Amino acid sequence: MKKILIVEDEQDMVTGLKFNLEARDYDVIAAYDGETGYQKALTEKPDLVILDLMLPKLNGYEVCKLLKKEIPDLPIIMLTAKSQEAEIVTGLEIGADDYITKPFSVLELLARINALFRRVAPGTGLQEIHRFGDLEINFKKYNAQKKGKALRLTPREYELLRCFIERQGEIITREGLLKEIWGYDSYPDTRTVDTHIAKLRRKIEDKPEEPKLIITVHGIGYKFL
Ligand code: CA
Repeated sequence: MKKILIVEDEQDMVTGLKFNLEARDYDVIAAYDGETGYQKALTEKPDLVILDLMLPKLNGYEVCKLLKKEIPDLPIIMLTAKSQEAEIVTGLEIGADDYITKPFSVLELLARINALFRRVAPGTGLQEIHRFGDLEINFKKYNAQKKGKALRLTPREYELLRCFIERQGEIITREGLLKEIWGYDSYPDTRTVDTHIAKLRRKIEDKPEEPKLIITVHGIGYKFL
């Protein structure tokens, strides 16, 4: 079981996070000021730290700097308030692995936590999960997220994505996609492929009109990334 240390002086925030993280089988410990947080990180050896920026005694930056010196591999997610967004850059410069701005959704935080754990231990039974920027696709559980928000993809869209990801960087013809995804039996028009790709782009691309993931190869088909 992975252990997460929350260093945050807002009691309600700690209670909410603890509840949500424990529900996902994380072992959660908390500290309510920077100094205690730092000490607990050293003694309790958490696998990840969620660190608030504004804290009594030692602030989040100081704690982060100290921890990165002591335990360079310890993943740290900084919590920042909206008004402090300008300071985020500084937060990252001192070695935080990620940051999240309050108010945030629990799902978004969970996605960031998962991403960090994956970065720390790649290939640990998570091969079915693929990440492209802020897009995450889990082919085992058939769920997908973008920017930490769940995407509603149809089974056909998962198959399309799987097909693209398996042949990342290769050009796949419309006919090839039809054959692979729709099968020979129901041989629809190649425009069906275009319609489905357009729908999929609206879900996974930042700007569907300027796709960065599923690229059109004019007159031939498509290519992933
Ligand atoms: Ca605070």
